[in-house]
Amino acid sequence: MKKRLVVIGNGMAGARAVEEVLARGGGDIFDITMFGDEPYGNYNRIMLSHVLSGEESDADIFLNALPWYQANNITLHAGVLVDRIDKFSRHVFAADGRVVQYDQLIIATGSRSFLPPMDGLHTPSGTVRHGVFTFRTMDDTRKMIEFAQHEHHRRAVVIGGGLLGLEAARGLQAYGLDVAVVHSGGHLMSAQMGPDGGAILRRSVEALGIKVHTGSRTTAILGSDSITGVGLRDQPDLDCDMVVVTAGIRPNVGVAVVSGLAVERGIVVDDHLRVMDEEEIYAVGECVQHRGQVYGLVAPLWEQAAVLADHVTGVDRNSMYLGSRTATKLKVAGVDVASMGLHGPERDTDEHIVFSEPGRGVFKSIVIRDNKMVGATLLGDSRKVAYLTQAFDQGLPLPEERLSLMFDLGSPGEEESVAELADNAQVCNCNGVSKGALVCAVRGGCASVSAAMDATRAGKGCGSCKPMVTQVVEWAAGGAVEEDPAASYYVPGIPLDKGSLMAEIRSRGLCSVSEVFAALAPGSAEDAKSKMGLASLMKMMLAGDYVDERDARFINDRVHANIQRDGTFSVVPQMKGGVTSVQQLRRIADVAEKHNIPMIKLTGGQRIDLLGVPKEELPQVWADLDMPSGYAYGKSFRTVKTCVGKDYCRFGTGDSTGLGIGLESRFQGIEAPAKLKLAVSGCPRNCAESLVKDVGVVAVEGGRWEIYIGGAAGAHIRKGDLLVTVDTPEEVTLLAGRFMQYYRENAHWLERTYSFVPRVGIERIRSVILDDSEGIAARLDASMQASVDSYVDPWSERDDPLTPGQFRTSLPLTVLPQVPVQ
Ligand SMILES: Cc1cc2nc3c(=O)[nH]c(=O)nc-3n(C[C@H](O)[C@H](O)[C@H](O)COP(=O)(O)OP(=O)(O)OC[C@H]3O[C@@H](n4cnc5c(N)ncnc54)[C@H](O)[C@@H]3O)c2cc1C
Ligand code: SF4
Repeated sequence: MKKRLVVIGNGMAGARAVEEVLARGGGDIFDITMFGDEPYGNYNRIMLSHVLSGEESDADIFLNALPWYQANNITLHAGVLVDRIDKFSRHVFAADGRVVQYDQLIIATGSRSFLPPMDGLHTPSGTVRHGVFTFRTMDDTRKMIEFAQHEHHRRAVVIGGGLLGLEAARGLQAYGLDVAVVHSGGHLMSAQMGPDGGAILRRSVEALGIKVHTGSRTTAILGSDSITGVGLRDQPDLDCDMVVVTAGIRPNVGVAVVSGLAVERGIVVDDHLRVMDEEEIYAVGECVQHRGQVYGLVAPLWEQAAVLADHVTGVDRNSMYLGSRTATKLKVAGVDVASMGLHGPERDTDEHIVFSEPGRGVFKSIVIRDNKMVGATLLGDSRKVAYLTQAFDQGLPLPEERLSLMFDLGSPGEEESVAELADNAQVCNCNGVSKGALVCAVRGGCASVSAAMDATRAGKGCGSCKPMVTQVVEWAAGGAVEEDPAASYYVPGIPLDKGSLMAEIRSRGLCSVSEVFAALAPGSAEDAKSKMGLASLMKMMLAGDYVDERDARFINDRVHANIQRDGTFSVVPQMKGGVTSVQQLRRIADVAEKHNIPMIKLTGGQRIDLLGVPKEELPQVWADLDMPSGYAYGKSFRTVKTCVGKDYCRFGTGDSTGLGIGLESRFQGIEAPAKLKLAVSGCPRNCAESLVKDVGVVAVEGGRWEIYIGGAAGAHIRKGDLLVTVDTPEEVTLLAGRFMQYYRENAHWLERTYSFVPRVGIERIRSVILDDSEGIAARLDASMQASVDSYVDPWSERDDPLTPGQFRTSLPLTVLPQVPVQ
């Protein structure tokens, strides 16, 4: 008969311990019962920061969802709290009246958020006030998101400037909230780094728009019905509508205390993770105190779970947990942070090497004692973290040239350090994956980086270890690592490259995004991340035959305006080639006055931008303007910038304005894998900056025109390649259109021409576009013509909204500072 293993706590440590038990054949030894206070399977708590910021959905962060328990014959009582253990009769008593007997028991109750004493924190009935949040569970995160989305909640104060506080502050910004962090320590993340690193982190955090108050203590939560602010000791109050408390954690030891187990700061365990003086009770995770130490990060609990499983299953009775040297490697609010051991020198003989580059947010500090590394802090650049972690963990002798500890001076190179890494060295802290586990995955047949990541979960936490995971997999595969097949998919949810996807759509006569999912997606599953790319591709391919589905569009494409940081929209009427008239200017001025437009701005594409229009006013603004849309949004053809040209300019040799207007009229609104910006200049002085456009045209001597493609002048800068020089504006129009159609059909989703042109090669593009080497020139021209013919001004939807909510606001609006007109 099987023994009964009961686990209290279904968090990261409890579930991991059970996984380790199963991996040691525990399924044959035990009937396993788990109790979890939270009504879910087991999820990656670390990823709650990503859920808060909207980068991940809560459904995506489960490590083991409910079917996993069934599949492994585990009885899970989810949403059931255990009140008490009777260690003499070996029973646990749950709050719902359930009583379960055990032969062996694991306690993995984790921690809860600590609420420091403050006036006004609780209601008279003793509950925490509405508007005050902790950040520990999925339910906490959901409640915070709901509150932050409310339009009246604009300002948040986060109490505590450690890892959690900074993550919470960054996450809340995603809802347009104005966020301040109040930290009692002298600098941010004071548990992980010294004051110099803290000062640089503060700069990086403030650069994100988060206000920071260090050396400040909150004394009260203000407001009667709703929250209006927090009171600080010796400093002015801070206004806010919500408060998030991330001021530390406390181990959940209540069950252990009432059951008479040994508890100090945590439940006291020995080197076998057995609770002090108890034969059959083990404890693991944040609720545990081992050799006086309580841990608040996941890396130690992975090590604990393995030792515990060795003992519980009897696989290795000599296995010992001797404590963890915590090396933290995280991405906090987008900033790489690695910290281990000492923050600064302690003895006169300690060497301290510091590099600081505040402008880039980079800080590195290493403490050396007796030629061994005893501490390091890395901020903003964690490239050397793998090597330093090893040096710290294993006490490796250090190179004489200390600088090479911080920078790659040729040694030790990345290759070398991966090879030297011990098998049990932890590569992914978030999911507790060692180098050995990754190597095993590769030997077991995982031929690509993503396959090894899927098999081990490495790199699926905060993501800071992905470069190292890639290095280890490449090293383990001896250079034979396969390219991830998914890397060639046009959209992630359909396993086809662009050419095959287009062929399938054509041959099956698919006309809408949902038809594509039904026919081509694995299990016909719809994938939200794929919808926009599919919609754009199908519109390009099918022109008027495309069946539009609203949910396949991004907000900008649903309301034909560009969403701004504060949740309002920007309205840009068409102004072909940057040319306008008295009547247009007057109408724009009247509309701006009538609708109290807070800001009018000239765009880089020579148009007038009316900024700050609430969503529900868009139809009326368009109606009053009575001008077509100027496409300041969407992945589509946008503008043609022009210079003055030959009619007025002393230097002009070509009618750049006329050609620009012609191009803009013809190609207005056509869909593309990414936005398309064009320009025409009247002479090589290039006042329209044609050499850095997706398609740029320059008039040259003899009335001829040069056509450049693949230029860019944004985050990426590239001078376009000369495609050809032609004699007439008609040839420019034809060849520019043919190139754009070729790009539309062959570029990856979101690939700008500055990547596409070098990838395909200018020679090849010339041979297709000019020499018709593939015999497709006529078809490209015809396809472009079909798109041009099917153009409809999207602003005509103003009179006839496609859905009742199309122009109803659902977003909280933020008040942005006004830029005064001088
Ligand atoms: C937002 C956030 C971000 C984090 N980021 C990082 C990071 O980047 N890196 C890192 O290393 N760590 C991070 N951590 C910490 C990490 O999540 C914890 O170290 C880890 O979850 C601890 O695991 P545990 O199983 O001990 O506790 P938990 O995961 O908290 O699990 C304990 C479970 O036990 C349940 N429970 C408690 N009492 C009872 C009872 N009496 N009966 C039944 N069930 C009970 C609780 O409801 C809970 O579900 C983060 C934590 C949070 C909240
Ligand atoms: S590019 Fe040449 S034609 Fe155009 S405005 Fe400049 S100088 Fe004049």
